[in-house]
Amino acid sequence: MSVMPFSGGWIEVVAGVMFSGKSEELMRRVRRAVIARKRVQVFKSHLDSRYAGLFAVSSHDGRSVEAIPVDSSAQVAQRIDPLAHVIAVDEAQFMDEGIVEVATSLASRGRRVIIAGLDTDFRGEPFGPMPRLMAIAEMVDKLHAICVLCGAPATRTQRLIDGIPAAWDSPTIMVGGREAYEARCRACHVVRPAHEAQREIFRAPDPGTRSNGA
Ligand code: ADP
Ligand code: ZN
Repeated sequence: MSVMPFSGGWIEVVAGVMFSGKSEELMRRVRRAVIARKRVQVFKSHLDSRYAGLFAVSSHDGRSVEAIPVDSSAQVAQRIDPLAHVIAVDEAQFMDEGIVEVATSLASRGRRVIIAGLDTDFRGEPFGPMPRLMAIAEMVDKLHAICVLCGAPATRTQRLIDGIPAAWDSPTIMVGGREAYEARCRACHVVRPAHEAQREIFRAPDPGTRSNGA
């Protein structure tokens, strides 16, 4: 973002599918704020272990910023440095709705708030507080990845469990590790119907013993 058209505080959101470069973009903005000698704080959800320890931004004059892991919006509020000019939150889809109030309050007190997160969950539905954050933000950038099946711009996060598309009633946030994620376009994105997984579990090996096929 080369032009900052707003005086006082504001909220900017970097939204998009997995692998669309949200963390890269957040880091780029943070790095530039550090170069501009702004005091910057970065928060990230403890649920995201992919970048554990990797998110660190340092400038030539030796100032560095590391992401602070948090569980909740209350923890963000508690750990805000009152002297920070710029507050960034990565993986904001994992935050509770309280992050909307925290971001609003910071912006109204003159801070620049940068939020990055998944706009949609594995079903393609709005994810956590992201829709509200996108609605109240002054600026929203929606990034795309590349669909791994057809090469089109990817706007959906495909969840695979043991290589098979996850069912609709699979939990929104999985903390297990059996699942894998891919970037896909709308046409290539697959969500299996709810309960299909359970039906498979109860399917008996001998068709003669199946009760009603429901
Ligand atoms: P996000 O935070 O949105 O998940 P990251 O900033 O962590 O994204 O990662 C973006 C990087 O992921 C890209 O620069 C690219 O190198 C890599 N990448 C891996 N798979 C894909 C894909 N299917 N489409 C685009 N980039 C991909
Ligand atoms: Zn596709």
